[in-house]
Amino acid sequence: MKLDLRPLLAGERLLEFDYELPLDSHTEDTTSFLWGTRFPSPMKVTGNITNTAGYMRMCLSLSVDYVAQCARCLSAVEGQFSLSLEKTVAPKDLLGDITEDKLDDFAIIEDGFLDMDEQLLLQLEMEFPLRFLCKEDCKGLCQRCGKDLNEGPCSCTEKEIDPRMEPLRKLLLKMQEEEKEDQK
Ligand SMILES: [Zn+2]
Ligand SMILES: [Zn+2]
Repeated sequence: MKLDLRPLLAGERLLEFDYELPLDSHTEDTTSFLWGTRFPSPMKVTGNITNTAGYMRMCLSLSVDYVAQCARCLSAVEGQFSLSLEKTVAPKDLLGDITEDKLDDFAIIEDGFLDMDEQLLLQLEMEFPLRFLCKEDCKGLCQRCGKDLNEGPCSCTEKEIDPRMEPLRKLLLKMQEEEKEDQK
């Protein structure tokens, strides 16, 4: 959604907003931070922009319910993610040659409008957890037989591996390697 800031630019003091932003939960892009996570309902966004003698400040909070996957045992992890943020709102031409790293502190008005969705998705990408665990000490799945070790030990003393489980075993090995990478 694009907020029309022209009234504020013309001297109004307050703009309140309250809307919902649906998140694409079936994204095919495996590099997306949203991949593997479902959002059963749209993200809720509420906030306001105040204008004090030309100085504009935005306060907002957002929350969204998610269903993610435990990085170890693949079970569903449900939760709610929320954050609040404050930014200075300024027209692009006023910011001039501000440095890239400072730009994050600003919400930028272009042609009288503020593109909220792009900002919110960027913010979500920065803050949304990269991996979820169903519980801190999740034991994960057995790499050989795929049994959920949270439910008890498996009987992998026998050498035999069900060949049907081989693809899953490889996937788990890969995920565990990636997890080690992440922890570096
Ligand atoms: Zn788990
Ligand atoms: Zn096993």
